[in-house]
Parts: sequence; C-alpha cells; structure tokens
Amino acid sequence: MSTIAFIGLGNMGRPMSQNLLKAGHTVIGFDLAPSNLDSLISAGGKAAATLAQAVSQAGIVITMVPAGKHVREVYEGPDGIIHNARRDALLIDCSTIDVETSRAVNQQATAAGFVMVDAPVSGAVPAAEQGTLVFMVGGSKKGFDRALPTLQCMGASFVHVGEAGCGQAMKICNNMMAGMSMVALSEVFTLAERLGLDYQSVHDVMINASGNCWALQKYCPVPGPVAASPANRDYAPGFSMAMMLKDMRLSQSVAQDTATATPLAASAALLYQKAVDEGYAGKDFSFIFNLVSGRTQST
Ligand code: NAD
Repeated sequence: MSTIAFIGLGNMGRPMSQNLLKAGHTVIGFDLAPSNLDSLISAGGKAAATLAQAVSQAGIVITMVPAGKHVREVYEGPDGIIHNARRDALLIDCSTIDVETSRAVNQQATAAGFVMVDAPVSGAVPAAEQGTLVFMVGGSKKGFDRALPTLQCMGASFVHVGEAGCGQAMKICNNMMAGMSMVALSEVFTLAERLGLDYQSVHDVMINASGNCWALQKYCPVPGPVAASPANRDYAPGFSMAMMLKDMRLSQSVAQDTATATPLAASAALLYQKAVDEGYAGKDFSFIFNLVSGRTQST
C-alpha cells in the first residue's frame, strides 16, 4: 500500500480520494478550501497544513484541480510539487487542462527526475463515487504501468493514449462530444415537449433507439427519467457550467491551432458562454436545457 498525496478535494477529488482510502492506501490531502478536507478526515484520511507538507511524505502525488493555471500553481514555485516531492514519487495529474500546459509541466517534472503522467477522467461525480471512472493516460509506457494499480482503485477503464499531453488531447475531444450532445439533447426534449410528448416516454424510447447517448442514459438534463441526474436536485453540480465552458473553450482553441472546422462545437460553446454570462456558472452544465428551452429569465 502507498502513501498518496491528493491535491484538490472538490467534487471529483473528494470521492476519488475516498476510494483510495477504501483500497487501503494512506491519503494525505491538501486543498485551498480547508472545509474540503473534512470529508477526507471523516473517511480516515489525513489533512496537511500546506502543499509542501502533503507532497513531501508521499510516494504518489495526484492532482485534481480546476484548470491549467491551478496545475502550474501546485507544481511550480517554492511550495510546489517539483520542489518538495520525493524524487522517486510518481506524479499523476487527473485535472482537465490545456495540452500546452500539460506538456510544459511534464517537461519540468521530467527534467527534475520525476516520472509524470497526465490522466484526466471521464464519468462525472457518480462514476467517481462508484470507482468506475474512465482514465485516458498520456506519458511514457513506464509511467502508465506504474500508475495503473493506483488508477484501478478509482476507475474501470484505462487507456494509454500516447505521450505526455495526449491524455489531455483525448479528454478535450471527449468533452467536446459531451458538451455538444447535452445541447443537442436539450433541443430534442424541448421540441418533444412542445409536440406533446412527456420526458419519460422520450427517454424510454430513445434509450433503445438511434438517438441514445451518454447524456440521455446517465445525465439526463430534464427532471425525472434518470434518478442520479443533477436535474433532480435543482442542477447542483456535478460538473459545473463554468467547467464545461472551460472545456469547450479548450476544444475551440485546439481546433483553431489545427485549422479544424468545428461549427457545431462552436455553437454549443456560445450557449455555455451565454449561460455563464447570465449567472449560471455554478449550476451543473445540464442546466443548459433551461436556456435552450427558454426557461431562464433572458430567454
Ligand atoms: P472543483 O472546483 O469541485 O474542485 C477543485 C478543487 O481544487 C477545489 O476544492 C479547489 O479549492 C482546489 N484547488 C484549486 N486550486 C488549488 C491549489 N492551488 N491548491 C490546492 N487545491 C486547489 O472541481 P471538480 O469538479 O472536482 O473538477 C476538478 C477537475 O476535474 C477539473 O479539471 C474538471 O474539468 C475535471 N473533471 C470534472 C468532472 C466533474 O464531473 N466534476 C468530471 C471529469 C473531469
């Protein structure tokens, strides 16, 4: 069993760290919001007072923070991972961030003698709780092989997709699909409702038909059909609108860099931007249904 430093104990980090504890690992957590450490302590983990304190004791360091600038914050600087982790520690970044930052941080870590992988996840909070996350891993084969036993405590699917940054490239493509399909499904439910169909019937037919998709099965944006959906708890996140906007912007940035036309994703990104501008950044991203169906104040 390992001693694992877990940095970032928010919506995802909390259940992921609890699954590591259940598997018998020692987990030392750090988060800028001290209240986020409470659930780790109640589950048997330890709280560190500083980032340096957390990582200096660990054989494995996992980060699960919001965006590229936060990953730089926790890796770089005198209190950060590169300066304070044990040189034999394995570094695993599970955050969803831009490819450029991911590769730059990996380069710094590698130059300092560490093995590091980017291992972003798909599956949202219910999969994090159930330990069924999908991991897409970038980095060396050696890094992937070393990370696998730890990732297996938190997930059910693990693919080594290429060198450093490739995990992030894969995650951006996956979330572009999730962002577009949530908007598409919201349009479908809106039209179906106006044609006199009820949500449950739409769900029950489409789940066995050609319109089936992850958003319909696991994360339905209308109240009723899928018990675990944020739609049944006033769209509390889950995966916030601000996070989905971040990921749609990441997709648009790399689309531009590679001269790739993505008109559907561009339209969806504009809708998430509108939702954030209207004050819904903290709602779950499936709240986009309310914007699409004209239920928000401005629509
Ligand atoms: P969150 O905002 O709930 O949690 C992030 C945590 O990081 C917060 O508790 C914050 O205090 C902490 N943090 C930020 N900067 C820090 C720093 N410098 N030092 C220590 N802690 C710091 O976000 P989340 O929903 O858990 O998402 C985390 C990452 O996982 C994001 O990159 C997101 O895109 C990705 N992700 C989220 C989901 C989801 O469904 N929520 C699914 C897949 C991937």
